[in-house]
Amino acid sequence: MIKNFDTDDLVIGAGLCGLMYGLTAVMEGRSVVISEAHHKVGGYATNFYRNKRKYVFDCSQHKVSGLRKEIGNLWNTLNRLGLHSLLDEFKFHEEIGTVVYKGDFIRIPSEPSEIKETLMICFPDEISGIERLFKDIETHGYQHYMFFRRLINEYTINKDILRESRNLSKITAREYFEIIFKGKDIIEVLSPIAIYSGSISNEVNAFYFLHCLYAMFYGGQAYVKGTGQRLSDLLLEEFLNHGGVLLKKNPVYEMEDHGEHMLIKTRKNTIKAQQVIATCPPEDVLKMLNSEEYVDNFKDIIRNFEVGWGHFCVYIVISVPPEDVDIFSPEYLLVSDSGDNFTQNDFENDRYYDLFTLSVSNYHRFDPEGGYVLQLVMLDHGDRWFHLSEDEYIKRKQKIQNKFIKRVLATFPKLEGKLIYIESSTPKTNYKFTLATKGSAFAYKMLPKVNLNLLSNFPNDKIKLVSTWAGGPGYETAMCFGFTQGKLLSKNTKV
Ligand SMILES: Cc1cc2nc3c(=O)[nH]c(=O)nc-3n(C[C@H](O)[C@H](O)[C@H](O)COP(=O)(O)OP(=O)(O)OC[C@H]3O[C@@H](n4cnc5c(N)ncnc54)[C@H](O)[C@@H]3O)c2cc1C
Repeated sequence: MIKNFDTDDLVIGAGLCGLMYGLTAVMEGRSVVISEAHHKVGGYATNFYRNKRKYVFDCSQHKVSGLRKEIGNLWNTLNRLGLHSLLDEFKFHEEIGTVVYKGDFIRIPSEPSEIKETLMICFPDEISGIERLFKDIETHGYQHYMFFRRLINEYTINKDILRESRNLSKITAREYFEIIFKGKDIIEVLSPIAIYSGSISNEVNAFYFLHCLYAMFYGGQAYVKGTGQRLSDLLLEEFLNHGGVLLKKNPVYEMEDHGEHMLIKTRKNTIKAQQVIATCPPEDVLKMLNSEEYVDNFKDIIRNFEVGWGHFCVYIVISVPPEDVDIFSPEYLLVSDSGDNFTQNDFENDRYYDLFTLSVSNYHRFDPEGGYVLQLVMLDHGDRWFHLSEDEYIKRKQKIQNKFIKRVLATFPKLEGKLIYIESSTPKTNYKFTLATKGSAFAYKMLPKVNLNLLSNFPNDKIKLVSTWAGGPGYETAMCFGFTQGKLLSKNTKV
């Protein structure tokens, strides 16, 4: 029998953003239904099993920023929701990772003072640039990081540096590095860190990049044992315990405005809601509202944004502990001698896959229970995959997988003959499991002058875009944005 619902909030999508919104809103006394297309919750924060659950693969979790006590925004958010046992699940990384560049293995520690010291030892000619970088992270990076707390009146913009912050938002991270550093090598060692926020140094704006560095260096970076799925499952448990309702395998197709409320049609139900909280891509919200007049105007707003990077991933199981093949660090960033400054031509003729930073994640180090798992990840774009026929797709996937394996074997030759399971995913796989436009894993690109605020006033005030598309990518942002919007949009709720 079809069950219909009448609720305060209908949330589209049970990724981290939707789960955090839902949890915050139910705690504020609202009735909330989350409708999720997939059969499990988490969106990108999920996992999958192979070989009768012997191998466990994490779909996205590398570093969750903002968990340092009293300093990190995510710590603050989880603490004020009383999720103390969830906070206890996070373990801190001992290092950000090891950058492999021109034969050197440069271990980047996790404490800001140690990171600075490492850079000064490796690049003694760049000391003034390094000093400037850390000052900018502490001022401009902090300012950008705290913007979302301003939404709930907990941060006052530092007007003394605002003009300079704005200028930084108009240039790329690479242009910024070229201003503060003398040589190229330090730029190529710092640039790959941008991939943790799904960006590339010659695209991402410097103001946002400094935010990412603040979040990671000062906010602290951690992980949950048991993959990102455990985090999603724990948030779901809290949501359900507080009376929330989750509808799985239930994509939302259509919405109609009925004046006092919205009527939402999903695969299995019809739902009457006072508010719709859309964590799915904004362009899908417009498709759901196809007959409304304002749709075309809002399409023009969306054209201001460029769909961000997805990724290509090779999931590997090896026959021996990673230490036996000289893989000790939780993460390596393999940077080519020419660095990350690839051209459009490199991208189009696939030289990109030989040149751009390849990350090698040692999941066994994060969580030994998941098996001897390694993952090779590179940013990639849906435009390179969606148009292919099935045959072309399979061939291309094999080709790129071989390129990655060749690169990793060149750095870790003892791996030869030890790969016992290999599987790959593309941006098309991302789309299949998250419905993200073009398989983007990091929502819109944070290019110079990009202004996500344009997405905050949707022309129907019963619909709110509460997502990484409107707030910026990453675990921390998804959860913190879900929380602040849950607080703000619940303000007038009578408990
Ligand atoms: C390989 C990889 C590595 C990453 N590493 C990191 C990292 O180390 N640190 C970090 O902070 N971030 C990382 N990220 C980014 C991070 O995973 C995402 O930014 C974040 O999980 C996005 O959360 P979300 O809730 O906004 O969206 P999503 O996770 O995309 O969730 C959206 C949900 O909405 C559902 N949905 C969509 N359309 C509909 C519909 N019509 N009806 C019903 N449901 C719908 C989807 O099924 C999905 O469950 C990584 C991402 C990838 C892919």
